[in-house]
Amino acid sequence: VPTDKEKLFVRALFDYDPSEDPTIPCQDAAVAFQRGDVLQILSTEDETWWQARRAEDSDSRAGLIPSKELHERRVALQRPAALFKPRTVKPPGDDPVFPVTEDVDYRAITGIHVAGLRRSFRLGRKSSWAKEAARFRRWSAGVHGSICPPTYIEVIPYHREPKDRHRLVVLVGPSGVGVNELKRRLLISDPDRYGVTVPYTTREKRRQESEGVDYHFVSVHMFEEHILDHRFIEYGSHGGHYYGTSLDSVYRVMAEGKVCLLDVHPSKIKRVYTSEFKPYVVFVKPPRIEELRLTRRRAKFVCDEEDADPVRVFSEEDFVDMIDLAETMETQYGHLFDQVIVNGDIATAFREV
Ligand code: 5GP
Repeated sequence: VPTDKEKLFVRALFDYDPSEDPTIPCQDAAVAFQRGDVLQILSTEDETWWQARRAEDSDSRAGLIPSKELHERRVALQRPAALFKPRTVKPPGDDPVFPVTEDVDYRAITGIHVAGLRRSFRLGRKSSWAKEAARFRRWSAGVHGSICPPTYIEVIPYHREPKDRHRLVVLVGPSGVGVNELKRRLLISDPDRYGVTVPYTTREKRRQESEGVDYHFVSVHMFEEHILDHRFIEYGSHGGHYYGTSLDSVYRVMAEGKVCLLDVHPSKIKRVYTSEFKPYVVFVKPPRIEELRLTRRRAKFVCDEEDADPVRVFSEEDFVDMIDLAETMETQYGHLFDQVIVNGDIATAFREV
């Protein structure tokens, strides 16, 4: 009998209904599943049809499922058709640079998008056409196959032991959606239960800050050594200084017996997708634009610079960006999310988290 370690388990990232699949060699031998179901893979010998059984259903029988290659090929075949489907976007009517009120077809105006992008950059103005062009490029990148369609993701059975450490809780979402506020509320609600990582930075310590509380203040040399040693889950630069979150800092919070709350860009989730961290990923997404307009008319805080104007109001463009970015995140990384929360009202979203 193979041990759990020797078995291969995957989570399906798409729905599969054999009764709608005319290519299945034998209807009765197929296993139906839905996105999110865990399957135990019994054989991948055949390139087209794998053998599997539903893992969470103890008396489920084994049968055929489409292999990763087969599903990828099918999606690739369907996508060019999607490219030619008329897809319309309505740019915001109050765009100051290019006032457009008519519906626009993606395909027809790609060239104009790019031209608009260059022109508005030269003028030093931000244009939502630029955003549209970027969106089109991201979308077409998916169409032309540079982003693989989600098929199956390997998972491991998680037998919880009483002395197990808590799982890592990862909060992700577009800037401005409220990830920071949710993290702050969780911390205040139960400081003995939740903890956050202390980031590293190469900037000078400010008067009110303390080493190891606000940041670990390190030299550029040390930071760069940490980068080379792959010690950061993520890092970046801001205002000419490095900032980053290390794996060590996650361990430190977990060693205190606390639930570590981490907020990172979804592209970094894979870094912590280990059996040790067993991350539970919460995606915070914005509500519809009408609700954003109603609930976020209030100011947003900008605390990037000490002397910066602390208050700025969300613009219509911020809302469009937020929704656009959330869509992209969900398309590209949705298969890594355990829970999706819509932050229309912060108190409700907090309760859900
Ligand atoms: P401050 O220097 O005012 O404390 O932080 C300025 C900015 O540094 C933050 O708004 C954020 O953009 C960035 N920052 C802070 N911590 C981190 C981190 O751990 N990783 C990254 N990539 N950026 C950070």
